[in-house]
Amino acid sequence: MTHVAVIGGGYAGMAAAVTLAERRIPVTVFEAAKQLGGRARRVEHRDTALDNGLHILIGAYRETLRLIRLVNPAHASALLRLPLEWNVHREFRLAAMRLPAPLHLLIGLLRAQGLDFSERLGAIRFLRAPRKHNFALPQDLSVELLLTQYEQSEKLKRVLWRPLCVAALNTPPGIASAQVFLNVLRDSLNAARGDSDLVLARIDLSALFPEPAAAWIARRGGSVLTARRVTAIDPVENGFAVEADGQRQTFSHVICALPPHQVNAFLIGITALSELAAAIERLQYQPIRSVWLQYPAPVKLPSPMLGFTQGLIHWAFDREQLCGQRGLIGAVISAEGAHEDLAQEELAQRVHQQLDRAVGTLPVPLWQRVITEKRATFACTVGITRPPQATPLRNFYLAGDYTASDYPASLEAAVRSGIRCAELALASR
Ligand SMILES: Cc1cc2nc3c(=O)[nH]c(=O)nc-3n(C[C@H](O)[C@H](O)[C@H](O)COP(=O)(O)OP(=O)(O)OC[C@H]3O[C@@H](n4cnc5c(N)ncnc54)[C@H](O)[C@@H]3O)c2cc1C
Repeated sequence: MTHVAVIGGGYAGMAAAVTLAERRIPVTVFEAAKQLGGRARRVEHRDTALDNGLHILIGAYRETLRLIRLVNPAHASALLRLPLEWNVHREFRLAAMRLPAPLHLLIGLLRAQGLDFSERLGAIRFLRAPRKHNFALPQDLSVELLLTQYEQSEKLKRVLWRPLCVAALNTPPGIASAQVFLNVLRDSLNAARGDSDLVLARIDLSALFPEPAAAWIARRGGSVLTARRVTAIDPVENGFAVEADGQRQTFSHVICALPPHQVNAFLIGITALSELAAAIERLQYQPIRSVWLQYPAPVKLPSPMLGFTQGLIHWAFDREQLCGQRGLIGAVISAEGAHEDLAQEELAQRVHQQLDRAVGTLPVPLWQRVITEKRATFACTVGITRPPQATPLRNFYLAGDYTASDYPASLEAAVRSGIRCAELALASR
């Protein structure tokens, strides 16, 4: 009898489980933490719902948005969808126009503030020219080299392309894969107008998808078990024995939706998977630090999300404009850098000072919380190879943002990988 075990209740695992439950396939999700969501989860602090990291979705995240709509009855109010606006404090502003694609961005670029005319044309050339080769490079190279090949000015690199690379790939442009960057440009800035929309969550990331997904799965006969760490997965006759909390249960299929640095603990013991384990072992990682500052009075950013090209902060989010959380600002510092040496107190102080300079005199925060995700994403480097979802072991699949995808480590890569694993399991019954 088919019964699928999904190990890991992040976005990948929950997408797999929803896809199976939709087809009424018995499914059990094991999640080690009390909270669903993994690297996109709620963090409670002083009675305030924060996220472990502020996330940006885009309109091109078709599968993530589809599943949120499917399981979350409050999806319409849970997401704020904004036409693309790239606002770099006091330096640059690009706003997509309400015109059909590609005019929405071409005219937007022609009217962008902070660039001279030749830079505007240069940006359009960089955006449009790769279409000739269907956005495929003969050989991967770094984003920095690609920008040089397309003769992008220093200002364009600084205010637009490098921040976009770090936001999308969480990898410094000097080592980031130009091919993956082009994939992102193809599906966001070179596609339908809505694909370049920014989509921001108005509720925390556990409540956005994994929690309503768990309720949805339960209504279809599946189960989602939290605080249930899997300690062993053993191939047995006709399936797999999964051990959690000292109890063993047998399943016909396993979808392993664990983060890459944790999945190998299960793969290395299985001979058929040892090569796969070696490939995953070679992945490297990039951090993201999120700094939350609670001010005593309302603090207004000029927009719900604001970019910076100088100082520590890459993005700042005004949670009052997003979620109604008065005086709460979240700042994102992506990828590796000198900031990693700063202690949490010092980092929060510097972020406060930068915001203070940017938006006017700010009061001293009531509290601050720094959340560091050392392995936020894999490093999306030149020529990276990612393991496929199907493995050499029958009925054993890998889901997760690090598995084969056109996309960098992201919610959409995670969700698509989960759906793919569910489809493979459905096809192998
Ligand atoms: C700070 C931060 C900011 C980010 N910003 C963005 C963004 O703006 N846009 C975007 O698209 N993406 C962003 N990402 C990336 C995105 O969050 C990830 O790509 C995605 O959440 C990965 O999902 P996943 O399901 O593949 O893995 P995970 O979320 O890591 O899920 C794996 C799950 O497995 C569980 N687990 C581990 N071991 C066991 C075990 N033994 N038994 C049972 N369960 C176990 C974990 O607790 C976890 O819940 C960001 C990530 C971080 C960390």
